[in-house]
Amino acid sequence: MTSIRALPTLTAPVEDYLKVIFELEAGDGVAGTNEIAAELGVAPASVSGMVRRLAEHGLITHERYRGVHLTKAGRRAALRTIRRHRVIEAYLTRALGYPWDLVHDEAERLEHAASDELIDRMAAAIGEPTTDPHGAPIPTREGTLDEPELLPLAAVEVGVRVRVQRVGDRDAEQLRYLAELGITPGRQIEVLSRAPFEGPISLRIGRVTKTIGPGLAKQILVAVR
Ligand SMILES: [Zn+2]
Repeated sequence: MTSIRALPTLTAPVEDYLKVIFELEAGDGVAGTNEIAAELGVAPASVSGMVRRLAEHGLITHERYRGVHLTKAGRRAALRTIRRHRVIEAYLTRALGYPWDLVHDEAERLEHAASDELIDRMAAAIGEPTTDPHGAPIPTREGTLDEPELLPLAAVEVGVRVRVQRVGDRDAEQLRYLAELGITPGRQIEVLSRAPFEGPISLRIGRVTKTIGPGLAKQILVAVR
């Protein structure tokens, strides 16, 4: 297997586009110009130009009404950036003692600057972690990604005990709140009750009972035991 280290150097904006397209495709499968623009916080018109360039470079295919899809080369490039991002987050927490709510923004910047050599050494220094601090799987240096199937906590039935696997990593305030509640990857929780019509969900976390809203419950991904 060839390493993702053999890929050409790409600019930071190109890497950001490929990463966003990868995430949209992994989500509901459609990465249209509008969705990409919303994710990147830019105007749809500026996305069109970049999409054309990415297609010319063989990183994506673009069909008019069917959105954008990563090619094999585009997927490998996206996975390289995602690996850098998640290794940096893991290194900052494990080696440098960063709290989990402060690493995402650092990783967003550093993921474009770090060499693959540095990333591999960082990963080795902390024992080759398989997930980042938020529970997201880290792609291997060969460019494979093992994404387990997870369920949002919002969809878990009452009375079921589950283990937290992954939480959303973009909102620092939300991460601080989750830490306060004790909702971190690896933690076991039980759904005690759920009000109808997307109402509050009460949880047993360790020995305490906490109530969260359905919006937050969608950001918490679990594995059913
Ligand atoms: Zn992150």
